[in-house]
Amino acid sequence: MEVYLTAAGEVAVRPSAPEATVAGLLAAMAVFGRGAVDCAGCAHTCCAGLPVFADNVFVRSLCALARPAVGGREAGELPRRVLRLDPLSHRWLLRPDGAGRCRFLAADGRCLIYGVRPLVCRLHLCLPSEAAFARLKDDLYFAYRHALACELAGLDGQAPAAAANPLIGATAYDAVIGDVAAWARAARPGWPAGFSP
Ligand code: SF4
Ligand code: SF4
Repeated sequence: MEVYLTAAGEVAVRPSAPEATVAGLLAAMAVFGRGAVDCAGCAHTCCAGLPVFADNVFVRSLCALARPAVGGREAGELPRRVLRLDPLSHRWLLRPDGAGRCRFLAADGRCLIYGVRPLVCRLHLCLPSEAAFARLKDDLYFAYRHALACELAGLDGQAPAAAANPLIGATAYDAVIGDVAAWARAARPGWPAGFSP
C-alpha cells in the first residue's frame, strides 16, 4: 500500500491488494508523513484544542500498557477516567486537560503514549485528503468507534441492518481494510439520524 500526494496537493492511497490491512495503511502513512509534514516548530495544534476520538484497539492497548504499573483493577477503570462521551456526537473522546490539550501531550510536544496512540492520531496529517481516501478513513473511524461503543456497553456489536462488527474484541489494527470498509458501508445507512458513534 502506498500513500502519496496528488497533483492537487491531496493525500491519497494507491489501490491495494484485497488482503491489505489497516496496519499496512498505518505503516504507509507513517513513511509518507515523515517526508511530507515537518512537525518541528509546530505548536502541536493537532494535539491541543481538537477533539480526539478513541477506538477500541487504542483503549485496549492503553489498558495493557498501564496494567503493570497500576494493577489490573485500576487499568480496568482507565477508560472511564481518560474518556468522556460527547453528548452531541455520541463519540468517546479523550478527556482533555484543563487547558484543552490532549492529556498525553508532553510539554515538549512529544506524545507520551506514541506506541499505542489512537487510530485518528495515526491517520492524521494536516494536509487535505483526496475524496476516496477521506471516505475510507471515515469508514475506518466509524467501525472502530462503533466497536469501542459496543465494548464499553457490553454489547455484541450487531448494528442495524448489518452483521456484527468484525472489530469487536480486536487487539491490533490487523483487520483487512476491505472487510472493515464493507461492514461500515453496510451498517451506516441503518444508523439513527444524528447518531454517529
Ligand atoms: S501534524 Fe500536528 S504537530 Fe505536525 S505540523 Fe501538523 S498540526 Fe503540527
Ligand atoms: S494521543 Fe498523542 S498523538 Fe494523539 S492527540 Fe494525544 S498527544 Fe497527540
